[in-house]
Order: sequence, then C-alpha cells, then structure tokens
Amino acid sequence: MKGKKIIVAIDGYSSTGKSSFARQIAQNLSYIYVDTGAMYRAVTLYCIENNFIGNCGLNVDKIIGNLKKINIKFVFNDKNGKSETFLNGKNIESKIRNVEVSNHVSAVSAIPEVRTQMVELQQEMGKNKGIVMDGRDIGTVVFPDAEIKIFMTAKPEIRARRRYLELLQNGENVTLQEIEKNIRKRDYIDTHRNTSPLKKADDAIILDNSDISIDEQMQWFEKIFQSVIKKDENDS
Ligand code: C5P
Repeated sequence: MKGKKIIVAIDGYSSTGKSSFARQIAQNLSYIYVDTGAMYRAVTLYCIENNFIGNCGLNVDKIIGNLKKINIKFVFNDKNGKSETFLNGKNIESKIRNVEVSNHVSAVSAIPEVRTQMVELQQEMGKNKGIVMDGRDIGTVVFPDAEIKIFMTAKPEIRARRRYLELLQNGENVTLQEIEKNIRKRDYIDTHRNTSPLKKADDAIILDNSDISIDEQMQWFEKIFQSVIKKDENDS
C-alpha cells in the first residue's frame, strides 16, 4: 500500500472520543478528517434557528422541504490546526456542541431524507480516499468497503464524565446527570432508528477505551494500520 491512500471508518457510541482519535489519525497520516456528527449537528442547528423544532417536536415536512437550502462545509483553521464547520457560509463550530443541539440531533438524524443528503456529501468527500471519517454508519453505509473499520465503545459513566469535563471547559453550565441522560438517550435513538442504525459492521474491530490511554489507543491503531499495509503489499 506504498503511496496508496485508504479509508479509515470510525463508528461508535456517543462521547467515546471518536472525533479526537480520528483527527489524530488523520494528522499522523496526512489524511483528510471528516466529523460527520458535526454535519448532523449543523442540520439540527439550522432547524432550531428556523423554528422547525419546537415544543411539539420536529416539523419533519419543513425540515425535508428545506434540506436543499442547507450547505455544510469544513474549513481548516490555521490558527488552531482544526477544521471547523460552516453552515451556509457561517462558522458554527462553537454553537453545534451545546446542550440544545445535542438534545435534538438524534431525532433529526433519524429522518431518512436527512441521512440520504448527508451520506451523498460524505461519499463525495471520500471519493479520492486518504480520509478518516467518524460517525455512526460510516463502516456500514457510507463506506462499506473501507480498508479499516473501527467500532468504539466505553462504559456510559466514563463517557459522560469525559463529555461533562469537556463542556465545563467550554463554559457550559451543565450537570453530570443531564449529560449521562443525554448520552444514554442518544445511544438508544441511534441504535433503534429504522434508517442505518448504529451497529458494528461485521468486519469492524472493536475498541473499548474505558481503561486505556490516548497513547495506547494510538499504538493500537498503528499496529492495525501496519498490518493492513503489509497485507496489501503481500497481495500485490
Ligand atoms: O458524533 P456526535 O456525537 O457529534 O454526533 C451527534 C449525533 O449525530 C449522534 O448522536 C447521532 O444521532 C448523529 N449521527 C448520525 N450519523 C453519523 C454521525 C452522527 O446519526 N454518521
């Protein structure tokens, strides 16, 4: 696989550290990184800002009718070395992780038409390979032929604590209990929806990072990456 670029698909439960892991892998390999959760969060923010989500729930017809007006892009920020999410030309990176968006994102992403539009965009982004993409359906739906598929999990209480600390750092006024409740609720909706529910692809490798460090996680990945490269060299 010398010089050949591959696709790394990372799926798993909420707040397992998929995005940080995927970003780090992409940086090490000089690959593109795409956070598909940010795309569903951007759609959700659009729905909130346009009052398609209210006390009575989602106005699904309005959401579907306005999907073509939603333009999502990632723009690399040289200052912090991260790619940031843009919705219709506006940087929304700091808005999409808040509790309100988190509370509605799983319901919005369960709408099949929303998924179809996002998946098309994701497949376009990865058509030249050399990409690390994280989400819920990357190894099963978006890139079923990805060379490396990882399915991440960790104990819910550990995930809640990590997310809680992250939100506190961002200045959000939240409690650990509400974060744990949100994580469990999102896990439930994500695994039970009809269209492309979160599930491990048959050929994905499970990574439970409840008790391992970020460095150990990266060493684990490097071994897998090397073995994929060796296998490809032997096959060709
Ligand atoms: O990854 P993150 O937690 O930011 O994703 C937010 C939500 O977006 C998930 O809880 C899930 O409902 C939805 N999502 C999805 N498919 C993806 C990525 C995210 O349904 N590929």
